[in-house]
Amino acid sequence: MTEKACTRCKRITSDERCPVCNVPASTNWSGLLIIIDPDKSDIARELNITLPGEYALRVR
Ligand SMILES: [Zn+2]
Repeated sequence: MTEKACTRCKRITSDERCPVCNVPASTNWSGLLIIIDPDKSDIARELNITLPGEYALRVR
């Protein structure tokens, strides 16, 4: 199954829509970012990520 990325929060999902934002997910994404502890991650803070998980760096 093709992994998709949420166009709003950039979260990686295999669903058609993001389970967090309920917006359509895109297959056109690049760069995989794994956030384990958002509170301790500068990148997570920069991208406004508050939930642990896999995220795309760029989503179109
Ligand atoms: Zn989302």
